[in-house]
Order: sequence, then C-alpha cells, then structure tokens
Amino acid sequence: MPDIADVAIVGYGPVGQALTLALTRQGHRVVVVERGAALHPLPRAVGFDHETARILQSLGIADTFPGYTAACSRYEWRNATGQVLKAFSGLDQMGLSGWPDKLTFCQPELERVLDAEVRAGGHAEVLQGWEVVAVEQSADQAVLRARPVAATGAGTAARTEMGVAPEREIAARFVVGCDGANSFIRRAMDSRYEQLGFAADWLVVDIRPKDPKRWNADLLQICDPARPTTLVCSGPARRRLEFMLLPGETKESMNTPETVWELLRHWDWTPEDALLERHAVYTFGAGIATAWRAGRLLLAGDAAHLTPPFAGQGLCAGLRDVAALAWRLHHVLTGDAHESLLDSYGTERAPHARVFTEFSVMLGGVICVLDPQAAAGRDAFMLGPGKDAEDRYPDPHLSPSSVLHAGDPHGGELSLQAQVRLGGRTGRFDDVIGGGFVLIGLDQDPAADLDAAARGFLARLGAHVVGIGTGCDVEDVDGDYRRWFGRLGARAVLVRPDFYLFGAGEAGDLTRALAASAVWRAA
Ligand SMILES: Cc1cc2nc3c(=O)[nH]c(=O)nc-3n(C[C@H](O)[C@H](O)[C@H](O)COP(=O)(O)OP(=O)(O)OC[C@H]3O[C@@H](n4cnc5c(N)ncnc54)[C@H](O)[C@@H]3O)c2cc1C
Repeated sequence: MPDIADVAIVGYGPVGQALTLALTRQGHRVVVVERGAALHPLPRAVGFDHETARILQSLGIADTFPGYTAACSRYEWRNATGQVLKAFSGLDQMGLSGWPDKLTFCQPELERVLDAEVRAGGHAEVLQGWEVVAVEQSADQAVLRARPVAATGAGTAARTEMGVAPEREIAARFVVGCDGANSFIRRAMDSRYEQLGFAADWLVVDIRPKDPKRWNADLLQICDPARPTTLVCSGPARRRLEFMLLPGETKESMNTPETVWELLRHWDWTPEDALLERHAVYTFGAGIATAWRAGRLLLAGDAAHLTPPFAGQGLCAGLRDVAALAWRLHHVLTGDAHESLLDSYGTERAPHARVFTEFSVMLGGVICVLDPQAAAGRDAFMLGPGKDAEDRYPDPHLSPSSVLHAGDPHGGELSLQAQVRLGGRTGRFDDVIGGGFVLIGLDQDPAADLDAAARGFLARLGAHVVGIGTGCDVEDVDGDYRRWFGRLGARAVLVRPDFYLFGAGEAGDLTRALAASAVWRAA
C-alpha cells in the first residue's frame, strides 16, 4: 500500500464494509482497521427498506439478495389479547427506489457478501484484530495508531516472544469512524451522543425451523405488558424472537440457552423443531452525534446515530450515510470539490437520521409498557381515538445544504428508480443507465437545454444526461417516470449519486445552480 491512504476506515461492520466497497469501486485507496479478528457473528438487523436495497444494488450485490432476503407484506402490532393496535401494510409492494418497501434479511449473511466483494476487489487493506488507540490530524493528513488485539481480549496489546507486538501508524487523507455506538473516533472528535431518551434491555434470539413449512414471513410486535415480545422473519428459513427483560431479570441470567428455550416454548418452539442459532442481550438506545465532521475525521453508521430496532432503521441510516459520504469523498479526493463539500454531509444527514430515530423511539414507547394499567390505557387509545393515526413510515427530505437546489420544494427528496429499456436491454434504471449524477429529461433530451459550460461541468462530474419517454432513446417501461414527473410538475430532474434530488425544474437552470455552488473548485 502507498504511504498515505485516501481514506482510513475504523470499524468493519456493515457500514465500514459498504463504505470500503463504495470508495474502492471508485478507485480510492482504503485501509480498514477492525478490532475483531473475524466478522461479527451475533444477531442484529433483520430488515432493510427499498432505499437501502438501491444502495446495496449500487454496490453490485443485488444479485445475492435471493439467498438471504425475503419479502413480507404486513407488520402488525398486537396487544396481549391479539387485537391489532397498529399495522403497516403493503411492505412487499414496489417502493420508490425500485425494490420492495421492506425486505427481511440475515445481517451476518449480508456482511459475508460485502466482505467477499471487498476482498475480491483487492483495493483495500483490511486489518482485522487491530484496535485504533489514537488519532491525530494535521493540515493535510490524519494518522491513526493501531495495536494488535491479544487473543485474550480487546484493548490489550498482543504479546509476542519478542515482547509487545509493534504498533502501526496509518496515514490517510481522511478517517471515517464506522466504529459503532461506542465510537473512539467520535470521542476523538469531541463529538458526543445527544441522548434521545430510550433505554431497554432485550434478549434477541435467532432460530432456524427444522421443518421448512413452519417458517413464515410474519412480522409481529406483541405489546403484552407481561412480556413485550417481537416475532419476525429474518430472511428465508430463519425466525427472530426478541424478549424484553423484566425488572429484576439480569443480562447474565437471561442470556443462557436454558432461559432462551423456556421463552421459546411459549411460542411453540422446542429443540425438537428448531435450531437455536444465536442469542444475545442488547441494551437498545437512541442517540445522535452532535458533530459528524471535525477536519479530516468523519462519522458514519452507529458511530453517528443509534436507533432502537422497532422501525428496522439503524443499518438503513448507516447505509444512507455511506451513499451520502462516498460521493462527497470521491469528489474531494479527485480534486473536483473543496473539503467544504464534506460539511454538507452532517447538515443533511443528522436531521434525517433523527426523524427515523425519533420514530423508532415512539414505536418503542408503544411496546415497552410493563404496567398493565398503562397498557390498558394505551390499547384503549390505539383502538379508539388513535385508531386513524398515521400508519406510514416517515419520508423526510434532506435538510437544505450547499448541494441542494435552494428554494426548490423537491430538493432533498428521494428520487424514483423504475424499469427502463435502452437498446434492447430492460431493467432497473441504475443498472441500465448507471449511477452517479444523472440529469433526466422527460420527453426531451436535457442536453439540448445546456450550454457548453453546463455540459463541461456535468462531464467533469461524470454525470449521465438522458431523455426518457416520447422521442427519447430510453423507454419508460411502466409509465412510472411520466407519473413521477407529473407529480413533481417538472420537465427535468438532477439526481445526485446518493439518489436524492438536487432539484426538479428545467435542465439548464438545475445544472447552472449546481455548478454555482461554492463547493466546486474551478476547472
Ligand atoms: C437486535 C438488533 C436488531 C436490529 N434490527 C435492525 C433492523 O431490522 N434494521 C436495521 O436497519 N438496523 C437494525 N439494527 C441496527 C444495525 O444492526 C446497526 O445499525 C448496524 O449493525 C451498525 O453497523 P455499523 O457498521 O455502523 O456498526 P457495527 O456493526 O457496530 O460495527 C462497528 C465495528 O467497529 C469496530 N470497532 C469499534 N471500535 C474500534 C476501534 N477502536 N478500533 C478498531 N475497530 C473498532 C467494532 O469491533 C465493530 O466491528 C438492529 C440492531 C440490533 C442490536
């Protein structure tokens, strides 16, 4: 590896893996430092949404989905007597991003796929079993100090026959802390978690039914004050059960196979008909980092935001961070943009992540009720006056920034991906046309609306410029683009590499407005 990497990533969980892949695919030199000697084996995320699926598609792994994902149609919240308090339906319908609204999956399987892709690419150095213990930054680089972790436990320098194993210094132009909820990099940045008011201990269990017929795709929250319980699908052939710990129960006493089987028996699972794959106790929490960038140091994933799992959004937010950060780092590293482009990352992402965390905290407040009287009051409200309450997931826009079209109501809105046909090839837009910046015109070639400077600017960004619909090479297979443009009331859209709209309007205006942002260096 060269002496200075483009990016050093601390933490090789799914967010670190995805960011490594996104950056190396664009030709950047990445070094990753991960404390664990192997990939994390324990149960965690079970669901991701359509936007996350599109991000994973952009990393080139969508063809692996059938092996470890499953679609589910409905997410129900029931009380102790089985009445439905709340339901999210239509989850298997095609979402805006060209994938089902929700796919269930098995996180260790996804991590294996991401890791295999990173290794197949061969452009990243992945140091597993090394812990970052210090970081310093200067005007043009950041330097990590890492120590090998002894087999006896994290945080201890390995001893060799010669004494303590040598430390390593890793210099990089930027460091991204993807180092989870207890992030070392966050602390080094003097950023802290703003607590968003949630804490509860849950026992999380993954099983594999021995008889495939006993597997189902149900997603249920049982809001029973005697034992709040989650029963969900975690991809093909797997079921996830989660049990809230009650007062007096300890993590140690609950996290045993005996206790797990006792709890599973209540739901008709016994060692005769299921394999116990994994179990762990987690303290679910909620928080958001007060700063996402300090000079050459940045945060992504759980290091930047922690979300209770009730909305299935923690990893989704982390992968949105990856999509948002990868294109910014790319343009800064290539010299197209000033480092100030990186400031817009937290400006946009922090409020967006907060919406989902607060939504998840709200859902957690519904299920984590242990007092029978309070639960009865909740049920009466949700079945009575509250029964028409919003039953959709939030759909926030990004907050205004230097790389969103000022004053444009569609700037920061998620863009559509649907089926298109070009030259005999039919498929999802990103597969057929490509990713990155995309200027799309409806029933027109948007290039016709651009002067030489605007064309040159888009060419410099590597943007695709495409017309779709009547008289254009790209066919709108199901009419989805026509309906979408109709809703936007626009003839052209400028889509950013993270799939959010820079804006909607006229091609020339949009391109000139993006080019005028102070984040770009002169050509
Ligand atoms: C029970 C449960 C259910 C969940 N369900 C969902 C769901 O359905 N949908 C969803 O989207 N999300 C869900 N989540 C959240 C999701 O699992 C997390 O958001 C995701 O795993 C975070 O990934 P990450 O890469 O940011 O962090 P992590 O996976 O925590 O990785 C951080 C890595 O950094 C390493 N590290 C830390 N410090 C150092 C250091 N100093 N030096 C080197 N390495 C270091 C750690 O060893 C670790 O491997 C769930 C979480 C839990 C616990």
